[in-house]
Amino acid sequence: MTIEGGCLCRAVRYRIAAEPIVTRVCWCRLCQYLGAGNATINVCFPSQALSVEGETRDYRSIADSGNVMHRRFCPTCGTHMFSAAEARPHLVFVRAGTLDRSEVVRPAATIWTSEAPAWACMNQDLPKFERQPPPAA
Ligand SMILES: [Zn+2]
Ligand SMILES: [Zn+2]
Repeated sequence: MTIEGGCLCRAVRYRIAAEPIVTRVCWCRLCQYLGAGNATINVCFPSQALSVEGETRDYRSIADSGNVMHRRFCPTCGTHMFSAAEARPHLVFVRAGTLDRSEVVRPAATIWTSEAPAWACMNQDLPKFERQPPPAA
């Protein structure tokens, strides 16, 4: 299975030669910045299955857990594509909106619901986690 995607301006393109491990809807406060006020949809893959063409920039931050996080985006159009934790380098999280066919993924859980605003619209059929759930893999 090969999954392809890229940024809005197409300066960055990527391919993933693996099935998604899990897809989650994240309402953490940082994701609300990236998602224009909404949650982000993040698809977990083995990081060695990802190959990227084009230049990305990296926004480094420290999560509440103490994990050092790297979030990579296109410096031309600003689209965020990838996030990864230094503590779990074998995993990469891809923003579902950058997939050429976002139909290939199915969200399995909603996370960080404790940081969502009162008006947040959540899928009631999915399990909810108030904070970070256990690692996906
Ligand atoms: Zn771009
Ligand atoms: Zn988040």
